[in-house]
Amino acid sequence: VHPAETMVHAFRAAVGRSPDHTALAYFDGRLTYRETDELSDSVAGHLAAEGLERGDRVAIMLQNTPHFVLALFGAWKAGATVVPLNPMYKSGEVGHVLKDAEVSALICSDRAWESYLRATAEAAPSVRTVVTACELDLQSADDPRVLGFERLPAPGADDWASDLVAVARRGLAAPGGRELTAADTALISYTSGTSGTPKGAMNSQGNIMVNAERQRAGHHIGEGSAYFALAPLFHITGMVCQLATCVANAGTLVLSYRFEAGVVLEAFARHRPAYTVGPSTAFMALAAHPGATREHFTSFQVISSGGAPLPPALVERFREDFGPYIRNGYGLTECTAPCASVPPEHEAPVDPVSATLSVGVPGPDTLVRIIDEKGDDVPFGEHGEIAVRGPQVVSGYWNLPEATEATFPDGELRTGDIGFMDTAGWLYVVDRKKDMINASGFKVWPREVEDVLYTHPAVREAAVVGVPDAYRGETVRAYVSLRPGAGTEPGELSAYCRERLAAYKYPREVEILAELPKTASGKILRRELRSPR
Ligand code: ATP
Repeated sequence: VHPAETMVHAFRAAVGRSPDHTALAYFDGRLTYRETDELSDSVAGHLAAEGLERGDRVAIMLQNTPHFVLALFGAWKAGATVVPLNPMYKSGEVGHVLKDAEVSALICSDRAWESYLRATAEAAPSVRTVVTACELDLQSADDPRVLGFERLPAPGADDWASDLVAVARRGLAAPGGRELTAADTALISYTSGTSGTPKGAMNSQGNIMVNAERQRAGHHIGEGSAYFALAPLFHITGMVCQLATCVANAGTLVLSYRFEAGVVLEAFARHRPAYTVGPSTAFMALAAHPGATREHFTSFQVISSGGAPLPPALVERFREDFGPYIRNGYGLTECTAPCASVPPEHEAPVDPVSATLSVGVPGPDTLVRIIDEKGDDVPFGEHGEIAVRGPQVVSGYWNLPEATEATFPDGELRTGDIGFMDTAGWLYVVDRKKDMINASGFKVWPREVEDVLYTHPAVREAAVVGVPDAYRGETVRAYVSLRPGAGTEPGELSAYCRERLAAYKYPREVEILAELPKTASGKILRRELRSPR
């Protein structure tokens, strides 16, 4: 297989090799590569007919449905840059992005359009075209319309928005002369913006293809296998590690709207996927589901976790209870998902001193340095900021030259993460620089405390934050949720950590919550726990 330059090339190559193979599986519905190609051609034709030009921005705000994929390839075939939007975004967040990225076309669900997006889009002067999709969610999984695209209803008359399915089925040809190249901006991916206004990382077609091709080649999974989309496609992990890698391998992408453990397990049983990747919280939720059995996981050849810390206790417990070994991987939106991962022929080592699980080794042509404040390399084993240079690192942020200069000096990505590297080249992520807790002048890294909490049999999820304290400046507070049926007390958890950690590190305060707050991509939101409740 010759590595393709762009996602559209990779997709067309898959259509050429396996036209009748299932590209998308969604509950009982299936679309072949040929059908997906034709339907997305028609979306491209429609966007072009509406005046969209090469390089224009198309925002896609959809859950993990076939519509997302048709919209994505339709936009790319029309030569556009895609701006993926989290469907949970409220009007203000959407409005900011539509204006900031000067979006020309918006593709969203009809429900969101009817309930609040119409007014938001009307206030964004650049938006000229709107395409809505009737998305069928989990509750409608029994809906006969899921069986096939052709059974979806014709579009209702609307003064502005057209219906995605009707557009896709019109049989239009994709516009000619808009072929993308590796250097074209494929995505403007807005980060969740923990540090002020959201910033749009510009992932090129080449950035995506490099990582997709590496994953495909590294996994040794047979061509045409099923890839389960556990992570949302609007997030870079889902987009690259699932969708792009699957297309590069002419595989079947299995979609299930949004993450819900019971539905996901059912889909595992039905589609027998060979690969999936998700945040560690997804595996915690699957493991805690009463219906989960070893049988659900027997088809997997590779399971990866990425985008968030992976507690070693979870990896061990998961292997014991269900069989597979979860492979850690490290990445950021700014390096188009992974820049380091655990190669299939290895298991990640655990650092003997800090008990941190390694995130793997840097990919080919990827240079990871651990640097001090001046940007100089620190010795092996010492803590410093992780800096990354490689073909997956983006060229910068959309319309933000100063932030680009600060985050990518000389093209090298300063991740804002603290880490270290051992002499064998394994990389370890300590934590985010800005999440460090300063307790009486001592540095406490939340992840280390969380890893200890995860070894407690009653703990399902854990998050550790610093809270203001008159005596210590900051004190360590833990929030946990419990495994189903498990019982414990805050005092017991605090004492448990005290036995295993230095006196300044253990959480003096512990609160048990039913559920911890998370981003739509499944990351536990320490930020939200830190703010006064
Ligand atoms: P922000 O908006 O603040 O950039 P984000 O969570 O939206 O936040 P992402 O690009 O999605 O940004 O996430 C990247 C971050 O996730 C990394 O900087 C790192 O802190 C964390 N991360 C990713 N993979 C791992 C891993 N394997 N172990 C620990 N942390 C990880």
